[in-house]
Amino acid sequence: MTKKTSILLLYTGGTIGMVEDIATGALQPFDLGKIYDAVPVLSRLDCQIESYTFDPIIDSSDMSPRFWLEVARVIEENYHSYDSFVVLHGTDTMSFTASALSFLFENLDKPIVLTGSQLPLGRIRTDGIENIVGSVEIASNKKASLPEVCICFEDKLFRGNRTTKINSEYFEAFVSGNYPSLAKIGIQINYKENLITPKPSNALKVYKKLDDNIVILKLYPGIKEQTIRGILGIEGLKGVVLETYGSGNAPTDDWFINALREAIEKGIIIFNVTQCQLGAVHMGKYATSCKLREIGVKNGYDITTESAVAKMMFLLGNYSDKKQIEELLEIPLRGEMTISEEESF
Ligand code: ASP
Repeated sequence: MTKKTSILLLYTGGTIGMVEDIATGALQPFDLGKIYDAVPVLSRLDCQIESYTFDPIIDSSDMSPRFWLEVARVIEENYHSYDSFVVLHGTDTMSFTASALSFLFENLDKPIVLTGSQLPLGRIRTDGIENIVGSVEIASNKKASLPEVCICFEDKLFRGNRTTKINSEYFEAFVSGNYPSLAKIGIQINYKENLITPKPSNALKVYKKLDDNIVILKLYPGIKEQTIRGILGIEGLKGVVLETYGSGNAPTDDWFINALREAIEKGIIIFNVTQCQLGAVHMGKYATSCKLREIGVKNGYDITTESAVAKMMFLLGNYSDKKQIEELLEIPLRGEMTISEEESF
């Protein structure tokens, strides 16, 4: 008889974990030990589930790099005891957490699947049951190799570090604008094996540090010099995720370019990502981005802001050489970006 897949179900908090108190009608966190009572269909899947609840459980708006490291620590400590991991998480910052975990685990060879829901598990019409069952079914699949940090939501499985939450109301909450879904969940679960990262040949390495001395600087017409200089002058600042327009474009005003140049000369790393959900940064395509390239702004290609934040914190936390960090920013490390032909000369 083949051994059942063993899954560790981690519960960080979020809407999914809320159930109604029958007496008062109030929503309260649910006891993960009773997962089979809440989702009886799980007992029919070919797997053995054990659970771990973080203390405290949090709304994902309270998520932090410290908590990401804690999630990574729990997974690492249990890595050899389980075949796969499912993480229940609030939807609001799930894409950030999935991105951070993807960088913290190098040479991952087991699935880490994050999921959550738009309606609490205890509500009629909840999407939580479908999302948990889908995630557990995916995590327990012995045939499909899935050495990735993923998000399973509604009817799709995504590479986590490619996702963005785009909807706060309807069940299709996430998109992966620049990378197709890894599987489509319908009558069957159809894996697109050619899009899934191959199993690594080297041993797992789990990183233990993140440096959060970074900011997201989103451009908008009318942004003032004092705003830019105020942000770039933050004490201890090491990295900036610069959200530019379209294919990586920014104002060409001298004051703007000078402020960025001075920051770069001071040692701050600037990473150019687009505000668009689809498409990539092409520095040099328009005159408005040529100057950015000339002064040493780094190219984020088609990376999401969430993934750029996690990647910067990861690189600044684990590497000390600025040049090496800048080089690694422009190379895909965990499938988080695609270097377009145009740029790869
Ligand atoms: N605010 C909640 C959270 O992110 C929303 C959700 O889970 O959908 O924790």
